[in-house]
Amino acid sequence: MPKGVPSATVSRLVTYLRVLTDLERAGVSRTSSDILATEAQVTAFQVRKDLAYFGSFGTRGSGYSVHGLRQELRRILGLTRPWRVAIVGMGRLGQALADFPQLGEFDFELVAAFDVDEQKVGKVLGGVEVRHTDELARAAADLDIDIAFLTVPTPAAQAATDKVVAAGIVGILNFVPTVVSTPPEVWVETVDFLAALKRLAYYIKGRAPVIDESGVKVGST
Ligand code: NAD
Repeated sequence: MPKGVPSATVSRLVTYLRVLTDLERAGVSRTSSDILATEAQVTAFQVRKDLAYFGSFGTRGSGYSVHGLRQELRRILGLTRPWRVAIVGMGRLGQALADFPQLGEFDFELVAAFDVDEQKVGKVLGGVEVRHTDELARAAADLDIDIAFLTVPTPAAQAATDKVVAAGIVGILNFVPTVVSTPPEVWVETVDFLAALKRLAYYIKGRAPVIDESGVKVGST
């Protein structure tokens, strides 16, 4: 992995990959940084700069092979191998994620689920048997778990993270709206639904109508 690649670049590579996948599905064989830029809502300069961190891919004048660039991006992003996933916290969100059908489509395979609730341990929820978190270390070794989804209540987040780390799992997708401490070799990506909602409120606050008690629009926020 080249050093100094900004995280915003990595996020955009994921977007370019989605665009290329859509183009390939539509039967398009060649594309350009202009097309990728329009679809990803950035400039063509930005596309070329992002790709330049990893080498030189296109041909001046004739753009990129959709299939070739898609394969390169899959390789750069680490998506050419399957990843084995466990869910820690099989409550409402954990079960919903276990049920998410597209996980397997992208080579993320759900192989285990953990909880501390004795009512859930031993049951099959979202198609996967729930184990006690005390079994995390053994199961992680037996099942080669690479990634843990953290879906526990906030007060349990650090303790659950510590168990995930002790089990040797190096990737955590954290859905809990809090910061968890991990050693440097563990990468945590946070999916903060509430933060996104607050950002949304900021951007629409001047647009949403204010309705009075009788249902009449009286202005905007
Ligand atoms: P929930 O209460 O339905 O489920 C939490 C589960 O975690 C329970 O099954 C509980 O037994 C288990 N648990 C508790 N301590 C644990 C531990 N130490 N190790 C393993 N499992 C443990 O909660 P939820 O609604 O699924 O939310 C889970 C987390 O996701 C919360 O932090 C919440 O803020 C966040 N979140 C939820 C939603 C949502 O729509 N439900 C959306 C965004 C974020």
